[in-house]
Amino acid sequence: MSRTFSIGGIHPHDFKISANAAIEDFPLVDIAYIPVSQHLGAPAEPVVAKGDKVQTGQLIAKASGFISANIHSSVSGSVLSIEMLPDLSGNLIQHIVIKVEGDEWVESIDTSSDIVRDIKLESKEIIAKIAEAGIVGLGGAAFPTHIKLSPPPNKKAEYLIINGAECEPYLTSDYRLMVESPEQILIGTKIMMKALGVKKSYVGIEENKPAAIKKMKSIAAKGYKEIKIVSLKKRYPQGGEKQLIDAIVHREVPSMGLPIDTGVVVHNVGTALAVYEAVQKNKPLIDGVVTVTGKCMSEQRNFRLRVGTTFDRIMFAIGGFPKDAVKLINGGPMMGKAVSRMEAASVKSTSALLLLTEDETKRGEEGNCIRCSKCVYACPMGLEPYLLNRLSRAGRVEDLELNAVHDCIECGCCFYSCPAHIPLLDTIRLSKAQVLRIIRSRPKK
Ligand code: SF4
Ligand code: SF4
Repeated sequence: MSRTFSIGGIHPHDFKISANAAIEDFPLVDIAYIPVSQHLGAPAEPVVAKGDKVQTGQLIAKASGFISANIHSSVSGSVLSIEMLPDLSGNLIQHIVIKVEGDEWVESIDTSSDIVRDIKLESKEIIAKIAEAGIVGLGGAAFPTHIKLSPPPNKKAEYLIINGAECEPYLTSDYRLMVESPEQILIGTKIMMKALGVKKSYVGIEENKPAAIKKMKSIAAKGYKEIKIVSLKKRYPQGGEKQLIDAIVHREVPSMGLPIDTGVVVHNVGTALAVYEAVQKNKPLIDGVVTVTGKCMSEQRNFRLRVGTTFDRIMFAIGGFPKDAVKLINGGPMMGKAVSRMEAASVKSTSALLLLTEDETKRGEEGNCIRCSKCVYACPMGLEPYLLNRLSRAGRVEDLELNAVHDCIECGCCFYSCPAHIPLLDTIRLSKAQVLRIIRSRPKK
């Protein structure tokens, strides 16, 4: 029987219309724009200069500070400039701009399709290798993976959970990875288990992906018995870390706590594959699978896309912006954000581009709250979104903290459920950021 989390959640249509689009290599670009900040934490510091020649996979910016990640070139060519350019959100970020010349890879990277099963490195060496390869969480937050694999001495990991839920409508990049590279994902899982010293792990997959469940189960049965493939109910946000932990090991992450507080570490299937490639093939994180989808597109796509590819280049590759499309979303319809700058470049954690028509983007006219409680029933974190919205509009920051606005996971279930079309997520998201700033600025006890 499929498992699921205990409270809240919604059942939007999944629109996995790109599920049958096999992964294809995106054509090489002319110029790559590689931001030095693609992760949570401090930006990396460039170690190349204008005019330098670089190879694909070469380190071009080094992690700085405890929470940071290395950046490698996704292409080979010459460094044209290192300059401040706006990212997707319009923030000015240092970019290393590279003119592409051929595709010459660093020699030590194994580019063959051979599967390397034997894990030779020990725990500390694995973590160092993952840090060196610049791996970050590919499930959204882009938190450096080597830090998540190094819990503090007073916290012990018991289980590793691999997130294959992909519960956001439209997204199919994780699904394609599980269908096309199941064994590499399982080896990546084993590598992370070794790094953490855990004996048991789970891969959670929503039941609307039967082909992925079947493939992963059949490979796991052959040589990866310590990894259990778990079927999960189709219910959004099933892929949230807290919801996965609840569904699979029935533990509750405390308010302001982390999964490790319950003895669990969660990673995404894309991260597991990146770990496999880093440790077994010596390949740093320079590309990822990106779903390009929308009902207005004649052909759905899943591209293996190199980091630093601009969004206008991606649109060019699909034959231009479809006639009926009025909006491009970076991510899925529930948690994604609108793309306002087509010159912005893809980053390590880019996983989907969704094109929407005018009809699909229409928001109903906002009315008054009718106190129906639908938002309360939908909230997977047990919050009261109607109240948070009211407090937020009144600027009552202390009350917002008392009502745990900081626990909001920004899933959008409340907004989706509200018959009065109140933009609950927008107001709550702003207040959450404000309250978190206050909490983090307090002296530690
Ligand atoms: S966005 Fe926040 S408040 Fe709204 S349902 Fe999700 S967790 Fe609850
Ligand atoms: S769902 Fe909307 S109308 Fe209903 S209680 Fe919540 S905010 Fe009010």
